Amino acid sequence: MTIVSHIPAAGGTTPNFTDYDGERARFSWAAVDRELGAAPGGCNIAHYAVDRHLHGPLADHCAFRFVGSGESATGSFVTERLTFAELGSRVRRFTNVLRALGVGKGDRVFVILGRIPEMYIAILGALRNGCVVSPLFSAFGPEPLATRIRLGAGQMLVTTDSLYRRRIASIRSDLPTLRHVLVIGGTDAAPSSDTVDFATAMSQVDDVADITPTSRDDPALLHFTSGTTGTPKGAIHVHGAVATHFATGRYALDLHPTDTFWCTADPGWVTGTSYGVITPLLHGITSVVDPAEFDAERWYRILAEQAVTVWYTAPTAIRMLMKAGPDLARTYAFPRLRFVASVGEPLNPDAVIWGRDVLGHPVHDNWWQTETGGIMIANTPGFDIKPGSMGRPLPGVDACIVAPRRDGDEARDVTVVDASDTEGELALRRGWPSMFRGYLNNDERYRRCFAGDWYLTGDLAKRDEDGYFWFVGRADDVIKSAGHLIGPFEVENVLMQHPAVAEAGVIGVPDETVGDIVKAFVSLSAGWTADDALRRELLAHARTRLGAAVAPKSIDFVDTLPHTRSGKIMRRLLKARELGLPEGDTSTLEAGR
Ligand code: ATP
Ligand code: MG
Repeated sequence: MTIVSHIPAAGGTTPNFTDYDGERARFSWAAVDRELGAAPGGCNIAHYAVDRHLHGPLADHCAFRFVGSGESATGSFVTERLTFAELGSRVRRFTNVLRALGVGKGDRVFVILGRIPEMYIAILGALRNGCVVSPLFSAFGPEPLATRIRLGAGQMLVTTDSLYRRRIASIRSDLPTLRHVLVIGGTDAAPSSDTVDFATAMSQVDDVADITPTSRDDPALLHFTSGTTGTPKGAIHVHGAVATHFATGRYALDLHPTDTFWCTADPGWVTGTSYGVITPLLHGITSVVDPAEFDAERWYRILAEQAVTVWYTAPTAIRMLMKAGPDLARTYAFPRLRFVASVGEPLNPDAVIWGRDVLGHPVHDNWWQTETGGIMIANTPGFDIKPGSMGRPLPGVDACIVAPRRDGDEARDVTVVDASDTEGELALRRGWPSMFRGYLNNDERYRRCFAGDWYLTGDLAKRDEDGYFWFVGRADDVIKSAGHLIGPFEVENVLMQHPAVAEAGVIGVPDETVGDIVKAFVSLSAGWTADDALRRELLAHARTRLGAAVAPKSIDFVDTLPHTRSGKIMRRLLKARELGLPEGDTSTLEAGR
């Protein structure tokens, strides 16, 4: 089934990207660089995101609208606004704060804050000062924070007094590289000479600061992966990534100057920095930021009340809205919404269609990873959606399927699979601007990601005859049963087509005869009872659609599935628990799972 991707907006906005083949043929990264122009001193993300807008009409344009918890007299959420000029001034001040403390180019600055204005100011000010910034998710406990700061040899930390008390105080003495801690809300929690009050420091400097010269290849950001398949890896990104951020904002998110954009990801994950901070600023548009966590009613309300036009979210969020039921959705209208996209996990076809029916726009799935720094494969307004497919490679991105490497295979050569619909490992031609430049302290692992011209993603996929890519599974999650290679997503999709199923996680349980037995864990939608009759019904539902070889042999009902904090189902944890094995690194596990 295909559905029309582009549903014309009420205001008649013309999509940026309508001619897929033509645009890909015309595209060059050099042209994007020319369009962005040179930054003083070379190439710096903060220059393109902030400085370059400050001498024109965008100076007074709203860059961020932070949604509060209180309500105004008219009953809508109170918001705090930051124009580009105000943002620029505070970013330059922060640059001077760093300089006053002797924190300079190449130094690592960790930012552990909620989604408050200071988070955005600190990230951009540190980039402007040539530092390498690592925003960490503020809900991490002390141990995961300590591991990451130690791994990254952080010299500076920006946090709040309450987070300091709860998360940092107990690990402070184990962080020998840390020279300064900037605390928002006073230093009572940590009265020592290396702890500085954020507001005081900002008031002691002025807002005149040149940008530190950085080149395209200078490191800018350090992002940790989600830890879905193992211990999180630290991926290093450079300032030149800005070209990908800019181009993908145009092609994959269809950003236009008049947009109000909402990316729901936290900057502690790559999506929240690449698309929650950098990309909307590059395009000079207003972003809505909600510091609160997911709540179906609140999210519908923000979409409607803040008149969001382009919404970038995650499949779990879409599924949770679906689970909240149609009555709630019907209370809201989204006449300004124009484009909806999601990333992070496979998006089940039902969710794509739900978007069309409930939000008025299908959800455009796109694929990328911490390592790729930006969107690589996407459903865009330029072509129709095949629900369940991740879409097609964006201009400037070459993707292919290569024959999977065998265990222990050290060969550097890979075979590109030309035939359509053949499963293999998804690979990207190396050299796109936001390609990661290393795994922190793990050069060997970085080298193993590349073979010849190709970066090997670790994801299994197939490409159909129209050039659409279909996700099969992570190489680590794929189930081998009686000679079949089964992607959990395929099985989960079918289970989720049943109205009782809100979410499904599928694993292989080792078996001497068949290799792996397919087992599903299922959480139910409101109003359904977990009993044997429903279990039998779901098993039959799956068998009819998937065939006996692929359908699950058993189903366990669970209240919720274990997710990473970035919203991905942790199948490795389902498996470890099923087999009574150690759970491994659970630092990114969502609380209470
Ligand atoms: P780790 O590498 O630590 O195991 P992770 O791979 O989940 O964690 P991220 O870089 O945050 O860390 O996630 C990227 C991965 O998410 C991709 O490699 C892919 O497996 C999955 N993913 C992202 N987008 C999609 C999508 N649209 N469809 C299917 N899978 C997706
Ligand atoms: Mg990964």
